[in-house]
Amino acid sequence: MECRVLSIQSHVVRGYVGNKSATFPLPFFKKNMLSFYFLSLCYAHWKGQVLTAEELNVLYEGIKLNKVTHYDYILTGYSRDTSFLEMVVDIIQELKKVNPSLVYVCDPVMGDHGAMYVPENLLPVYKDKVVPLADILTPNQFEAELLTGRKINTEEDAIEVMDLLHKMGPETVVLTSTDLPSKNGDQFLVALGSQKTKKPDGTNTNQKICMDIPKVDAVFVGTGDLFAAMLLAWTHHHPKDLKAACEKTVSVMHHVIKRTITYANEVAGPGNRPSPAQLELRMVQSKADIENPTIVVQAKVL
Ligand code: ADP
Ligand code: PLP
Ligand code: ZN
Repeated sequence: MECRVLSIQSHVVRGYVGNKSATFPLPFFKKNMLSFYFLSLCYAHWKGQVLTAEELNVLYEGIKLNKVTHYDYILTGYSRDTSFLEMVVDIIQELKKVNPSLVYVCDPVMGDHGAMYVPENLLPVYKDKVVPLADILTPNQFEAELLTGRKINTEEDAIEVMDLLHKMGPETVVLTSTDLPSKNGDQFLVALGSQKTKKPDGTNTNQKICMDIPKVDAVFVGTGDLFAAMLLAWTHHHPKDLKAACEKTVSVMHHVIKRTITYANEVAGPGNRPSPAQLELRMVQSKADIENPTIVVQAKVL
């Protein structure tokens, strides 16, 4: 079955962040990708052009003129500009009219560990316009707290926050990483997910899961973007089984990160911390794991 994804994210000249984290692995899932490149960046050094809302609209006009407006998925990530984000909202609304079963996967990239790294005026746009359109939402703990105005200190808080996010729109919510303590010790980070589905008899069910992910002592770039792309792919294969989709997503992440850190430590040499360039995700080398991951993380149903 052919499946079309429209991915509106940044493009980078090296490494795997934004659209490179989606456009490389997703075609393995036999999807036809079409992507908008809207921003260029090279590690911490910002260079290149940022696509404006008007320029995005010109690209979208091109899509309409070419009569290629039917998409199964839209994927969005990092954006720093409210008018750009509002244009994205307009496009999604129009494309959902063309295909009412279009699934919008939204990574509400705003910040991490208590600090925002996008302008603060993006928050109300995400809250009021973007999240209500999203079908699948992948915030980290901080982003989920920003969107709901609730702090997460316990698993119960996390469940409440995911329910609040459901009320805002998305049927599937995954908190990609939290600071919650893992029962397996401090070598693990905790991720949680919640999915509401309609049963054939019309009643609703809700699956909630929790995962302990082995922590690697390094900071990676583009892992959030890869997570969102992989969740898109695996929820496509398991649309009503969040446990299966998340186990595969997180297992892919684990294999890619493990290969990346092993290589980075090797090239950095004993006693040296790898540089961001050395920590560039080993994506091409992980092709087989991306296509068919050995399951290394089991999700617990809550
Ligand atoms: P975000 O950038 O959106 O905050 P993260 O990159 O922290 O999201 O997490 C996305 C996923 O990437 C996590 O669920 C985990 O699978 C993986 N990941 C990221 N950093 C690490 C790490 N240091 N150790 C292990 N897994 C990681
Ligand atoms: N894309 C770009 C261009 C970024 O600069 C950032 C973060 O600074 C992200 C995406 C977010 O990536 P992640 O969600 O993996 O932290
Ligand atoms: Zn993120």
